[in-house]
Order: sequence, then C-alpha cells, then structure tokens
Amino acid sequence: METFTATYLDHNATTPVKPAVASLMLETLGFPGNASSIHKAGREARRRIEEARQTIATFVNAGPRDVIVFTGGATEANNLALRGSGMARIVVSAIEHPSVLQSVDNKEIIPVLPSGLVDLEALDRMLTGNTEQTLVSIMLVNNETGVIQPLEEISKITRRHGALLHTDAVQAAGRVPLDIQKLGADFLTLSAHKMGGPQGVGCLVVANCVTVAPLLRGGNQEKSLRAGTENLAGICGFAKAATLVDFDTDHKHAVLRDKIEAELKAIAPSLKIFGFEAPRVHNTSMFSLPGASSEMQLIALDLAGICVSNGSACSSGTVKPSHVLKAMGASDAEAAASLRVSLGWNTSPQDVDYFIVKWSEMYNRIKSRIGAA
Ligand code: PMP
Repeated sequence: METFTATYLDHNATTPVKPAVASLMLETLGFPGNASSIHKAGREARRRIEEARQTIATFVNAGPRDVIVFTGGATEANNLALRGSGMARIVVSAIEHPSVLQSVDNKEIIPVLPSGLVDLEALDRMLTGNTEQTLVSIMLVNNETGVIQPLEEISKITRRHGALLHTDAVQAAGRVPLDIQKLGADFLTLSAHKMGGPQGVGCLVVANCVTVAPLLRGGNQEKSLRAGTENLAGICGFAKAATLVDFDTDHKHAVLRDKIEAELKAIAPSLKIFGFEAPRVHNTSMFSLPGASSEMQLIALDLAGICVSNGSACSSGTVKPSHVLKAMGASDAEAAASLRVSLGWNTSPQDVDYFIVKWSEMYNRIKSRIGAA
C-alpha cells in the first residue's frame, strides 16, 4: 500500500485511525463470529460487543437505565434521535450538522449569537407556553468553529419546559470530558472516526429509558432499535478509541492552535477568527481572510501538501457559504473566504510551522490583489 504523506490538519473531517485501534480491528476482522449466533463463535462476538458497549457507557458516564445503540455513524444516530423520538415538535439550533438539520422537514430553528453560542433567551422564549411534546437538538461542539455550547445550562431550560434534549457530541468526544448525566441530555450522539476510531460506526446513547422507534427494521439486533448484523470490528475499534482518549495531548493543541491564530493575525491583520470570544475546543480554528476565496486558499495549500478545509458545503460544483458562519452573522464575503484548521492526535509542532510558512507565502502572493497591503 502506498504511504500517504501530507500535512494533515483536517481532523474535524476525520481523524486517522490510531495504530492500536487498527491492530485490534485487524485481529477482529479475522474472527468468524456473528453476535446473533448461539454457538461459541457467536457468543464470543456477543461478548466483545457487550464489552465495547460497557466501555462506551463508561466513556460517557451513562446511567444504569441508559441504552447505547450502535449505529453506522453519527448521521444515523442523529436521524434515530430526531426521527425516532416521535416528538411532535423538533427545535434545533441554526448551526447543527446537516445530519440534524436535514433529518426532519418540519423543525424550528434556534438562532445563535455572533459568538457562535446558542441564544438561550430565544430558546427559553420558544419553549415557553409550549404544549406539544418537544425535542430540542443542540450540538455540544460545533464542527466548523469548535465553539462549546453550555449544555448543562441548556438542559436546565429544556427540563423546566418538559422538553427532551438531544446533543450531537461528535466533535466533543476526546476533546472535552463527556458525562451525559451531568450534561442532562436525553440523547447523545458519537462517531468513532472523529476520535481515532474507524469511519462508519457510532452510537446513540438513549438516557433514562426514553423510548425511541427504530429507523431500520429486520432482525432484533441492538434491542430491536437497529436491525442488521453488528459491525463487530468497527464497534471494537470504536471502544478501543474511547479507551485511548488523551486529554493531555488534546490540551497541548491549544498552544499550537493559538500559535497559528497569533501568527496569521500578525501577518494579516484583517483576518477574522470565528468563535474567538466563546469557549472553544483546543484543536479548531476557523478564520476568514476577506478577499481570498476559500477555494483559492485550499488549492494553494493543497499544492503545498497541506490538507485543511473550508466552512462551505460543496454541492454539484456550487459552493454555498457556511450556514454556521452565516448564522453567526458573517457576510457572504466573509463566509466565502473561510478556512478551517483542525489538529489531532498525530499533529506535530512541525506540521503547524509548515502550515504557517505556506499560508504566509500564499498571503504574500495575493495580498496586493486583495487590497491588503
Ligand atoms: N455531526 C457532526 C458534528 C459531525 O462533524 C459529523 C461528521 N462530519 C457528523 C455529525 C456525521 O458523522 P458521520 O460521518 O459519522 O455520519
């Protein structure tokens, strides 16, 4: 297999599988058991899945009555929560991932403040006098800006109004400690591939015996909440990744992220950093260089072997400005000039230095064109 060499700074899109996860998965892939079979191999597959479930339960501090449903990733888990909850009214924040925003047709949108934090007064108003059964969905950490929402405060509001709360904690996993009981969420979504595990596996944690209807029907797997043979290697890899979460390494990212922001801002004073005033996870920086399109920046950096991302969703060749930045009050021009750098478990200080050098070279090439100097 060809070795992949690039300066990879796009860990919020997906983070490489950690070597110990890969070797456990390889071992598991060679194992024949189907967890629904009653013979020895089946029983061993079942044992491994239940052990993984317990590991994930510990990872999120699930209570004894909470249920963990393994899914084919966070998109499915988000859909299971929003569509399976059976609530008449769905209320979601304006900055949710498309797998929340697109999962139901009729939803109400909670605005966010320019800082990227959800407008809690607006949420309170939206829930006041509510008589319909309501599910509120607010992500714990935003994938574009890294802004952390005050979920404990949010759950006090939702509980006061008798609404259920779902949180997409995909980008929080491994970056902030997760405690579903403290957070006060009724549903919590995780995805393995954002925390050093494999793509295509995740889970929905369903708290306090809240009922949820399955999206997939068929066999009785996952307590009939998700039919289909379990992804044994994926589930084992997911749990292994949870045991390898290392907050010390993550905290070191703050130094590297802050270095990127300070140096880029010194080079280009017009740079705007999104979510700067709000609590953010340590690994993420989203900024905009007015006049320099995201595509141009992405291509220039890609040519230098650097993988980063922008805040725009690309579909059929058209680039739409990021709905997250727009919701925070950014102009179309700002949103169209955004770049996201996200660090991860194997990011080195050299990667960050190389990025700064190449970004600065790009800036020097274009600064007269964008009227910056
Ligand atoms: N929620 C968030 C916040 C995400 O960042 C992502 C992945 N981009 C998802 C959900 C979807 O996850 P998955 O790829 O596992 O379906």
